Amino acid sequence: MTVMELISLIYHDAIEGGANESSGFNWPDAALYKLEVGVFDEHLQAIARVCERPAVISDILSAGLSPPSSPRKWMITFDDGGVSAYTHIAERLEELGWRGHFFIATDYIGAKGFMDRAQIRELRRRGHAIGSHSCSHPLRMASCGLRQIEREWSASVALLSDLLGERVDLASIPGGQYSRRVAEAAAQAGVRSLFTSEPTIRRRQIAGCLTLGRYAIQRWTSPRTAAAIASGKVVPRARQALLWLAKKIAKAAWGEHYLKFRESMARLRLY
Ligand SMILES: [Zn+2]
Repeated sequence: MTVMELISLIYHDAIEGGANESSGFNWPDAALYKLEVGVFDEHLQAIARVCERPAVISDILSAGLSPPSSPRKWMITFDDGGVSAYTHIAERLEELGWRGHFFIATDYIGAKGFMDRAQIRELRRRGHAIGSHSCSHPLRMASCGLRQIEREWSASVALLSDLLGERVDLASIPGGQYSRRVAEAAAQAGVRSLFTSEPTIRRRQIAGCLTLGRYAIQRWTSPRTAAAIASGKVVPRARQALLWLAKKIAKAAWGEHYLKFRESMARLRLY
């Protein structure tokens, strides 16, 4: 039986003129993931040249994960809920006939630089998938107490479900720190598809919740690399997986100090 290969990309914001504060989070590290709108356009064009339109996870799940055709699909996701999803990103996807997944940190809905309730509803109306990205966006979610993890998932899922008038069962983990406990708590909150930041196509079923890795796009990721990843090329994915492993070791060794180290590296643009 062929098992479908699912490759997901994580983008964040698309900004103009280096205005990092215009969309999404404003800490130094966040800027690493914000692309200029023109660059974002180049990414979309490069991907469109080599890939079919991206899939949406709910469609894939309802069709089954082992279809006779198309052994590989790709998906595009956007974390945090920055307002550029509404002002720049969605219309660009739609021009190509594409739909994306937008993951919202619900405590920030309506805050400066973030989408408000009406904008989120509008994206859903236009066919995009909306999911939770926790409430408060803890950077080290797996290190939070179980009660907080449960609350982060259940309250954000409830709020979005109420906002959209349908059951929201998608989520992505903020800060990239995954653990089985984080996935189990998400499952308990009704999440059926949980996107991590681990650069892998390996999938796991945990308590009825499908966890899926993703490949992160940073502001200096070239359009060519993004297209190579989306189209299933192995080398750029292996490179990300190696870097991820190195970072994981650094995090385990340095814990809290790692976040500070990461900030310093971000300033020097070495990270
Ligand atoms: Zn995030």
